Amino acid sequence: MSVADASLAIRGARVLALDDADHDWARADIVVEGGRIAAIGPDAARDWPRPLPRTIDGRGLLAMPGLINAHFHSPGNLMKGSLPGYPLEIFMLHEVPPLASGGDASRLAYVRTMIGALEMLRRGITAVHDDAYHVPVASTESVDAIMQAYADAGIRATVAIDQPNIVEYEKVPYLAELLPAEERRAMDAAPRQTTEELLSIYAHLIERWHGAEGGRLAAAVSCSAPQRVTDDYFAGLSELSKRHDLPFNIHILETKLQRVLGREKFGKSLVRHVHDLGFLDERMMVIHAIWIDDDDIRLLADSHCTVAHNPVCNLRLGSGVMPYRALRDAGVPICLGTDEMNTDDSVNLWFVAKTAALIHTLASPDYGTWPQPAEILHAATRGGARAMRREDRLGQFAVGAEADIALLDLDSVAFTPLNDLKRQLVHCEDGGSVRMTIVAGRVVCENGRITTVDEPALRAEMRELMAAGRAQQRRAAREAARLEPYYREMVLRAASQDVGMNRWLN
Ligand SMILES: [Zn+2]
Repeated sequence: MSVADASLAIRGARVLALDDADHDWARADIVVEGGRIAAIGPDAARDWPRPLPRTIDGRGLLAMPGLINAHFHSPGNLMKGSLPGYPLEIFMLHEVPPLASGGDASRLAYVRTMIGALEMLRRGITAVHDDAYHVPVASTESVDAIMQAYADAGIRATVAIDQPNIVEYEKVPYLAELLPAEERRAMDAAPRQTTEELLSIYAHLIERWHGAEGGRLAAAVSCSAPQRVTDDYFAGLSELSKRHDLPFNIHILETKLQRVLGREKFGKSLVRHVHDLGFLDERMMVIHAIWIDDDDIRLLADSHCTVAHNPVCNLRLGSGVMPYRALRDAGVPICLGTDEMNTDDSVNLWFVAKTAALIHTLASPDYGTWPQPAEILHAATRGGARAMRREDRLGQFAVGAEADIALLDLDSVAFTPLNDLKRQLVHCEDGGSVRMTIVAGRVVCENGRITTVDEPALRAEMRELMAAGRAQQRRAAREAARLEPYYREMVLRAASQDVGMNRWLN
């Protein structure tokens, strides 16, 4: 893409910068050159010395930084609306079947990734942090398919390989004793990758894709969760994260069962376990952090990590409610994620923002502690940028920042009448007002039409690929049904334990 392709001007829009000075211009211009914001403010375009290839009439529109979906798993894109309400551990039987064999065809992975990317672009989500798992094993081909989809879609993407490598029944408490011997043997025989194999795929991801497309694509690392990987692989990932300054994705204490597991397996909280290993640092994005105690909150704050809050997913899986205000009061930065399409059933970060603004009113009658629109918007933009290690360049408008911009129609239902812009962005907007999405200075969606790829053709191909995969889906569903009674027993047994806290309503 040439510099001219990534240069344009927006004239006369309302501009909400979401920067430190909290600029909110009733009427201003944004000049973009070479994918970056070159000038911003009233009459910035009129005063610009060089001609620009395109000028967008911003009158009646709001220009704001594109939202950042800080936690997502693109491989779930096929499963939107497919599952009834399950707790995480039952849900995962369907999401990542523990006895799966074979693998994803590259074309399927490409089209699947693309479908989610396009849904985000339509809603003004300009960047995604994808913790991509590979069932049953990762390969350079499956990594390339995902990265190529993000390259072609035009969205900004930071992508990790989320690949557990220990036997299924060791990731959870009680299951080893609950399972019949033949199911345990089948799990023993399921494919798992060695530390060497996985780190060589990471080397490929970093070498080929980290910084690709002018820096629009980037690599992250992921251990999925501390209890799901071998010690040497965990250490290898931590070393990789430090060496290349990569974000480290880690799910910690999403469920009560995981609190029980920490006690049974490590004799301590999983946050303290990761801290004691020396891995908890500012590169970590700790995902969920629901069943955490005061000691965990102190460790998270001292480490300068970021916590990814996914309240819609947490409600969908009945995981409980993250102690939002306690984390914020301790100084822990928060970002927002949809999590995957089978736990949100969309990739709509606007809905996540509204849910985050609402659910914590249940935590305290002191309404002074309830989340305010400005902090929710901060989490949905700069919080995500921080977790992607790009806080200086993403999530806010400033000269030199990446030109990742959402243009919203202020004549839409959400803003009519316009009383309080930030509150209406959080409480009224659902992505339906987005008229244009710009990533790195390039218009990628305009008036509901994706400009980068043939979206209707990709949707049609998706339906064909899904139909072709029905037999495999039915086999996975049968296996999940056979295993479910043992998992159910495990979940209920863990739920009945006293762990010294409660993150549910009861
Ligand atoms: Zn997740």
